[in-house]
Amino acid sequence: MKDMRRFVQQPRAGKRKAEDWKRSRCRRHRSKINPLPSLVLLFTMCTFLAGVTANCMELDESQETFLTQTIHQQSSEKEGEPPLSVESGGVQSDAEEDWKLILVNRNHPLPQDYSIETVTLDNGQQVDKRIYPALQQMFDAMRAQGIYPVVVSGFRTWEEQQQIMDEKIQQFQMQGYSSDQAEEMAQEWVALPGTSEHQLGLAVDINADGIHSTGQQVYDWLSEYAHCYGFIKRYPEDKTQITGISNEPWHYRFVGTDAALEIKEKGLCLEEYAKAA
Ligand SMILES: [Zn+2]
Repeated sequence: MKDMRRFVQQPRAGKRKAEDWKRSRCRRHRSKINPLPSLVLLFTMCTFLAGVTANCMELDESQETFLTQTIHQQSSEKEGEPPLSVESGGVQSDAEEDWKLILVNRNHPLPQDYSIETVTLDNGQQVDKRIYPALQQMFDAMRAQGIYPVVVSGFRTWEEQQQIMDEKIQQFQMQGYSSDQAEEMAQEWVALPGTSEHQLGLAVDINADGIHSTGQQVYDWLSEYAHCYGFIKRYPEDKTQITGISNEPWHYRFVGTDAALEIKEKGLCLEEYAKAA
């Protein structure tokens, strides 16, 4: 297996954002699931005393090393898990943040000439290289709580999205619907090519491994904690009128922790968040 540690970024120097009370829940969650060596805890305490606050996605360098080594050993054993690395935090400029909030839906097709660098997961699925550390960290947190997720669909090409759409239409036709009806119904579940977040590489469909966990366990955990890792439930049940997509408890979109926290707190969907911004 490839050594994924090359994707680990070094923390950047700079002023961290002021602590927000809303993050405290994520921090408590994180502290429960990351049993770190006492040295790391001591380092964290010193960092805190020095007045530097870390948000729920940020890890210091010693934590990175520990987690990277630990997770790296586990990775080759479990099929379908992301390869392993850990995100480090830091202050980013607005330009660097823009990519996280790209809105793609029926009314906002994929930008022309959109291209990304992908990372291939152990099971062959791909994701945008930039979301991979957060994804890995989230999966590791789930495993630490005895829940075993799998990325069943990540980045898709235009052709792959078309194929999924064709298959869905065919499925409805086989149930007796006319081709027009089938096409309309399929679009409630599958985005038209050019309008799918999967083509951005920033969205993942996450399910259970089917051996150690059930889909519902995975969905419940994600619904509760995914925002701590910068992911949002993109198509919530109460937003189908706005998103145009039926409730998909498995589809998560990376937007970064700041946006994810706000979206979760205010009960928004990405369309509403983008409009308010
Ligand atoms: Zn999806």
